[in-house]
Amino acid sequence: MKRRDFFQGMGATLALASAAPQSLGVTVPQGEPTHRGVASRGSVSLAPIDARVDRITEIYTCLRPFRLTGPRIETQQLGNKLIVHNYGHGGSGWSLSWGSSRIALQLLQKKARNTRRLGVIGCGPIGLTSAILAQRAGLPVTLYAKEIPPQVASMGATGHWSPDSQFCVAAFASRWCRRWIEMADFSYKMYQDLLGLPGDPVQWYYGYKLSNSSFDVAAPRGEPEFAKFNNPNRRYQPIQVDLAPDEHPFSFPYVRRWQNLLFNINSYARLLLSDFLAAGGKIHIRHFESAEELLSLPEKTIINATGYGAKTLFNDPEIVAIRGQTARLVQQPEIKYAIRAQDFLFIPRRDGLVVQYIDRAGSYNNEDDSPDFQEASDAVEQLAAVMAGLRY
Ligand SMILES: Cc1cc2nc3c(=O)[nH]c(=O)nc-3n(C[C@H](O)[C@H](O)[C@H](O)COP(=O)(O)OP(=O)(O)OC[C@H]3O[C@@H](n4cnc5c(N)ncnc54)[C@H](O)[C@@H]3O)c2cc1C
Repeated sequence: MKRRDFFQGMGATLALASAAPQSLGVTVPQGEPTHRGVASRGSVSLAPIDARVDRITEIYTCLRPFRLTGPRIETQQLGNKLIVHNYGHGGSGWSLSWGSSRIALQLLQKKARNTRRLGVIGCGPIGLTSAILAQRAGLPVTLYAKEIPPQVASMGATGHWSPDSQFCVAAFASRWCRRWIEMADFSYKMYQDLLGLPGDPVQWYYGYKLSNSSFDVAAPRGEPEFAKFNNPNRRYQPIQVDLAPDEHPFSFPYVRRWQNLLFNINSYARLLLSDFLAAGGKIHIRHFESAEELLSLPEKTIINATGYGAKTLFNDPEIVAIRGQTARLVQQPEIKYAIRAQDFLFIPRRDGLVVQYIDRAGSYNNEDDSPDFQEASDAVEQLAAVMAGLRY
């Protein structure tokens, strides 16, 4: 469906909204504004989210660069160039970027001690953090990429701390445990130093997980079993707490509160770019059609951080696309909580409220990066239904 047709057809879509909420046991008030003051129960007071399809400002679709065996962080000699690969982070690239890039840099320092200057291909979270860490280690760096933020596809990511999301399949988890902990620990530490900065590139939020049945039921999704990781010696997030019905304003029998970090990706990516440039970094917009084209670069040592682009650039048959989509709603600065319910996730980003239809069947091995307006409106309508059920 074309975007214009979609928005023109919104009257019809909103009329349908009364059907969807029934599965949640509540009804969306037709045509009524959702602003009804603050819903309070116990210690939880929540401003209502104005969840309407006509408040969708943009829809972002991107492909998670997933490898069954986990990200590729290893060296390869290509002619006279030493390539350090750093790509394939599935659904955890923003979260693990600092730690993964530190491992890539350590590999580089081990294999090419005499490196005088570095080229980095790719200007997403992995390329930018690789470049900044290399600068901090004293190397002059030039970034080459066909797109830089905000054009980079991963600007459409949800933007929260999700360090083991679609990282590798369960069968390969044991290979990664130690290195995953190393990556997650270092990244998490780096994010603590980015809290409280102007523009809030990183911030904490509370979220509420809502369900009509116990939280233990997992829905099969026709995807491989993804690995789950944790650091047994530390908690990256405070413990999730189950709330009793009189402790929250939601109309759901099962409610759990969690706390997590979020990345306001617009300001965070801009901060990374400006830190890189302020330290003397150079950027060249360039599209490499083949790996051999890298041979023409002046740098002898190159970090390859091309994400999903590595599939064709380095002919990597292991990369699988996991399609994902987020919709952005008009900002509401008063909204500071997240919601995970039914098929959607809502994250209160300052640069636009994010609504995501998650676990959509058919996302795995799906290279279609065209926006699906129906998917976005389904998620927004589910959110609207939850708002309609808030107890005041
Ligand atoms: C819907 C969705 C939600 C997500 N949510 C989260 C989340 O909440 N938290 C999280 O941690 N992760 C999340 N992810 C995953 C995360 O976005 C990815 O893991 C991450 O984007 C990978 O970053 P990257 O730097 O490797 O690749 P990218 O950000 O894609 O950057 C690749 C760079 O390489 C360049 N490039 C590619 N090919 C070439 C070429 N041939 N020549 C020149 N340049 C090239 C591109 O222009 C770009 O600059 C999400 C992903 C999706 C799809």
